[in-house]
Amino acid sequence: MNIRVGILTAPLIQYELTDNGFTIRNVRIGIGFHWDRCEDQSFHGEITIRNNNDGTQTAVNTLDVEDYLCSVISSEMNSNSPIELLKAHAVISRSWAIRAIEANHINATNIKKQLYESNGHIGFDVCADDHCQRYEGTKRMNNKAIEAVRQTQHQVLMYNNTICDTRYHKCCGGKTEDFATCWEDIHLPYLTSVDCTYCNTQNKQLLTSALNDYDQETNDFHDWTVTYSQQELNQIVKQKSGIDFGNISDLIPLKRGLSGRIYQLQIVGTQRTETVGKELKIRRLLSLTCLYSSWFDVKKQFNTKENQLYFILHGHGWGHGVGLCQIGAAAMAAQGADYKQILNFYYPNTTVQQYK
Ligand SMILES: [Zn+2]
Ligand SMILES: [Zn+2]
Repeated sequence: MNIRVGILTAPLIQYELTDNGFTIRNVRIGIGFHWDRCEDQSFHGEITIRNNNDGTQTAVNTLDVEDYLCSVISSEMNSNSPIELLKAHAVISRSWAIRAIEANHINATNIKKQLYESNGHIGFDVCADDHCQRYEGTKRMNNKAIEAVRQTQHQVLMYNNTICDTRYHKCCGGKTEDFATCWEDIHLPYLTSVDCTYCNTQNKQLLTSALNDYDQETNDFHDWTVTYSQQELNQIVKQKSGIDFGNISDLIPLKRGLSGRIYQLQIVGTQRTETVGKELKIRRLLSLTCLYSSWFDVKKQFNTKENQLYFILHGHGWGHGVGLCQIGAAAMAAQGADYKQILNFYYPNTTVQQYK
């Protein structure tokens, strides 16, 4: 089975063909997140350059799903991670990819297709960035990753005879989140909240082997603090929302999910008061890039010397918190859990099965 991956859209794609694939210059990764940057990437398989109506070009890479997965698990996590973590990741990344391919299949319903096209995913199944799954070419791949994909060949995660919606994130911060806190108001029994103590680790050896270079720059993934002066907050929210709230006097969490992640937040300003959500929107509004998570408490402190109000956000976790906690899963694997135990912990009552 082949997958079509949208690598990037740019005014002009700079690429070169190589012996067994191609190299693209200046591929942007972590778009809109705190690790946003550009790098050159090399790929296997075919490349198609599409000319878009707005004058830009899109590079689309077509390759076998199993080959795609070797890169995905080495991009999402370090390919030197414990093998059982890589195997668990191969199963969930395969499940997610097959769902995307099936949704774009010629016989799929229009509703499913529209969902992908509304993300700008026209003419390909998935994008190569965190929006779908990281696919950063061949440079972070090694034999261990290839072996993890081979050992779990064609295996997917199933619930009630359906392939699971296998969401995952970097670190849950102590408790994973319910699907509905982040996306549509539907209940998926296997995407509910579980207590996770595994990701509360500063084990250097584990983190260096499990996280890729640029992810290792984020040390405070489990517990973090962000401080803004009122002025800074006013500007950030105005820039990100396009709305002038005036002086923001309060941030009031109205609704929280099962982990504590906020999905309705009231922003109280002198000019305007609005309720915003769900979790990703809140994270984007309250940071020039994106807050690590929407699980935070708000403290206000008035500095009399500066005559300035400060907002202190104390938070937990990195990512939406739904499904598998990648750092927690790596720690579980390092402690001896096998990939099925890891999957059963983060996606309760599911089973690993061969796809078709
Ligand atoms: Zn995408
Ligand atoms: Zn966790």
